[in-house]
Amino acid sequence: MAAIYYTITPKHLAAHLFEVTVAIDQPDPAGQRFMLPTWIPGSYMIREFARNIITLTANCGDAPVATQKIDKATWQCAACAVDAGPLMLTYEVYAWDLSVRAAHLDATHGFFNGTSVFLLPEGQRDAPCSVTIVAPEAWRIATSLSKTPALAGIAEHFVVETRSQSGSTNSVNHHFYASNYDELIDHPVEMGTFTHATFEACGITHHIAITGKHRADMTRLCADFKRICEAQIRLFEPTSHLAPFREYWFLIMVVSDGFGGLEHRASTALMVGRDDLPFAHVPSMTSGYRKVLSLTSHEYFHSWNVKRIKPAGFIHYDLLNENYTRQLWFFEGFTDYYDDLILVRAGLITPLEYLEVEAENMGRVLSQSARLKQSVADSSFDTWIKYYRQDENAPNAIVSYYQKGAMVGMALDLTIRQRTDGAKSLDDVMRALWNAYGKVNIGVPEFAIETIVETVTGLDLKAFFAEAVYGTRDIAFAPLFSYVGIDMSMRVPGMGTGTGAGTGAAGTSKTTDPFPPTLGARIGADANGDAKLAQVFDGGAAQQAGLSAGDTIIAIDGLRVTGHTIDRRIKSYTADSTIEFIAFRRDEMMRFNVTLQAQPASVCVLTTRDTPPEAKLQRDKWLGFQG
Ligand code: ZN
Repeated sequence: MAAIYYTITPKHLAAHLFEVTVAIDQPDPAGQRFMLPTWIPGSYMIREFARNIITLTANCGDAPVATQKIDKATWQCAACAVDAGPLMLTYEVYAWDLSVRAAHLDATHGFFNGTSVFLLPEGQRDAPCSVTIVAPEAWRIATSLSKTPALAGIAEHFVVETRSQSGSTNSVNHHFYASNYDELIDHPVEMGTFTHATFEACGITHHIAITGKHRADMTRLCADFKRICEAQIRLFEPTSHLAPFREYWFLIMVVSDGFGGLEHRASTALMVGRDDLPFAHVPSMTSGYRKVLSLTSHEYFHSWNVKRIKPAGFIHYDLLNENYTRQLWFFEGFTDYYDDLILVRAGLITPLEYLEVEAENMGRVLSQSARLKQSVADSSFDTWIKYYRQDENAPNAIVSYYQKGAMVGMALDLTIRQRTDGAKSLDDVMRALWNAYGKVNIGVPEFAIETIVETVTGLDLKAFFAEAVYGTRDIAFAPLFSYVGIDMSMRVPGMGTGTGAGTGAAGTSKTTDPFPPTLGARIGADANGDAKLAQVFDGGAAQQAGLSAGDTIIAIDGLRVTGHTIDRRIKSYTADSTIEFIAFRRDEMMRFNVTLQAQPASVCVLTTRDTPPEAKLQRDKWLGFQG
């Protein structure tokens, strides 16, 4: 089969330009088209990567070939003369997006996703690909792309040629292979002078490559990641302990402030804060490091859930347009449920720490009115225009299919455990989906998850799904938590022992101060330090008085306020006080009579109890706690 030959060279580091060539032996005789994806699988937003292609030329042998853009992401080449030689495009890609989703290049390193840099010759999506990375001598390459043709499912006789004039005595050619374009774009590449460490999990080599200045304790990082990986491999393959990849790469970029990850079939690109990584002299668990482990666990879980068990619509991505699914509550939400659950089961956090994290997540969902308007199925479907494009009205309009999806996952798990008397759990459902769909590369049709849950558990769960997934009523957690000896309550911020889980006695040391009133808005500070409303919540005091997101409040009850002092000012009144706010909307000064409200109970608290003993037993079983 004809192959596609790519080369990529970090060409102008200071200008952040990669030079890329793509050569094909059998161009369309009528004129070959090339396209670049508009989005990257895993991040559901049209990002128009073609906007970063700066210059592009084509030639057939020695003869230049005319090219023309025919839509935002597609180039049309003129027909090549017969036997004129391979058709080659040479183009520059501007790479200055420091995220896990695109490409980034400077003198310190290069990073790219194939979706940002590799043009696809139309009609050749299934053709094997070879990639030559022409990197500075001092740079190493971190990627899960295959280094041998055979491992990429390509015949041994597939010979690689570097069809580029690029390269110099100071650069080294690194060769990689993919059996088709979809595989090619599912292995991001990091190049530079990163820190590299490896560990084995269930017999598979796992690599950690950290880019950016850091002082992380690599030994601890390897040990903790290993526990996460082994717990997950064993969850899906309890007897064989077989991982679905030959090796795995964690590509980590550390920054001063940033957080995110993107899943791939045998790797993940992560961005984390450098001070959230563990230091050798701080052996305890910090909240920052817990978040890093949770993110790591999340992206690794995607190796099964969404990269292999995937919506039917994702089996053959449409790389130019939105790919709709109503199932992200499962593929993202349940992954979100399992990421922390794996941490407690692997012994990296305690059951109480776990409940504290879950309580925080639940409090966020339950304090926003969006949950009463949008179901997680609808939020999944509309993610392209809503969840991924949040504006100031998001808390009133968009429910997170991550956070509420995780709640649905927990509710379903506890429902199954309770109604089967502990005989079955969500783990059985995940394994069934893995065996029926993921392992055999069959897409999961809409509503098939509900069916498989009922088949595996023997339960009628239609009412559960209608309410939790397709409805907007709050899930009744109290009876489910009761089965595992947990009491749930909603409290006013600042009341009792604060947020999170306690043991029985939580809430006994209530503050005696009356609760401060609330404006019903999230208040930030603008560049001048003035108090600016970032978000205005439905039915809150600010909205009822006519204040809007974007308004800058300059005085309350005749006194000047700033972003720094406004909270203090508001706290000096009681709920139901009506006071005058003076604010600027754009450059127009306006007056508002605001009646402050009592704080709503927006903090979720989960407390454990050990009676009856059966409840504690079921809780320990659920959390995998060997106590
Ligand atoms: Zn995810």
